[in-house]
Amino acid sequence: MNAEIIAIGAELLLGTTVDTNSAYVSRQLTACGLGVGRVTLVGDDPEQIAAAVREGLGRADLVICMGGLGPTLDDVTREGVALALGRPLEFHAALLEQIAARFAAMKREMPESNRRQAYVPAGARVIENPRGTAPGFIVEDEAGTVVVLPGVPYEMRYLCEHALIPYLREERGITTVILVKTLHATGLSESMIGELIADLMNQENPKVGISAKQARYELRMSVRAETYTEAEALLTATSSTLAERLGANLVGAEPLAATVVKLLAQRNLSLALHEATPVAPIFRAMTAVRGGADAIAGVVVHPLDQAADEDAAVALAHAGATNVLGRWRAELGLGAQPVSSPDPSGLTAVCVALVTPDGLVRQVTRRYDLRLPEGWDFVATLALDLMRRYLQGEQA
Ligand code: AMP
Ligand code: MG
Repeated sequence: MNAEIIAIGAELLLGTTVDTNSAYVSRQLTACGLGVGRVTLVGDDPEQIAAAVREGLGRADLVICMGGLGPTLDDVTREGVALALGRPLEFHAALLEQIAARFAAMKREMPESNRRQAYVPAGARVIENPRGTAPGFIVEDEAGTVVVLPGVPYEMRYLCEHALIPYLREERGITTVILVKTLHATGLSESMIGELIADLMNQENPKVGISAKQARYELRMSVRAETYTEAEALLTATSSTLAERLGANLVGAEPLAATVVKLLAQRNLSLALHEATPVAPIFRAMTAVRGGADAIAGVVVHPLDQAADEDAAVALAHAGATNVLGRWRAELGLGAQPVSSPDPSGLTAVCVALVTPDGLVRQVTRRYDLRLPEGWDFVATLALDLMRRYLQGEQA
């Protein structure tokens, strides 16, 4: 089943009200596995509403209309939908009683114009609205199904959750389950990951999307199936495919810093840091994670006070890591050290070294633009990933 949405109201076309209703309904329908093919904005005009509904039914099985159900003469969605389906509007005494009862409860007199809200197209099923006066309705027509909901966002959301979705699931046999899960990766460029999983990104189900932040990547898997068990199985299979394709670059279900903190805690290892900048990017990244501070035995912040080329930076990173390791009797020492000045291209070489009481175990040098505010975040990613790979036992 596929759907279209029509948001109705002059204010939407004038731009004075932003159409947030359509985005909400799109998310709800997508979660039920329905494809939303189009969202249309229409003014408060019965002919134009009718045309939009007819066109929508020409393409989709289900058309959801929102807005224009108020009591005043400028709200004409009922008329427009009735016109589109060639059905007269019928008066429902029970609806008027409910509307009147709502006014009575508020100890206010019901204006005559509210009578308009007691009309729905012939053969429509009424959706009661306990949040407001405007009832919605569903018409199951030969041409397709039209669901009409009020425009007031909190009423619309309430009826969407309590009437539209139950109707689709219980009466229209929509059983689709959509599950979304994120995996984390690092160590490759975004374009390289994109090439490794291009087929998964181009297909519809399962589908994988990437978002990147400072060389850390979130791989969002979304799967669609008829049962929960099937969806879970598809998710597991997709995770395995990603693991195969990305190898040790796949961090896991948790972000990089959280994964490192967890690995340290599992083995009861303490870490000492030597950072060459008061920004202390590694310390910051680790302590942003719950439990991260517990893993850190101590930190030395030691900005460079002499000229250093790449060889010197490597030696200083190594020496710094060894120094903090000994000072706090930690099991791991990590040092990050940039050279004293950038390349002509503006990039600065940064060396990261990881030591244990037995000596140097890992070392890597990369170039970053440290003039950018997020430059140091890339260094943190590099350092944490070096540690993650060591702790996960990857062969150097
Ligand atoms: P109506 O159902 O046309 O009487 O609209 C009732 C209220 O809901 C008005 O304040 C509208 O501006 C607001 N509204 C109607 N449609 C939308 C929409 N698509 N998104 C957000 N607000 C809306
Ligand atoms: Mg309106």
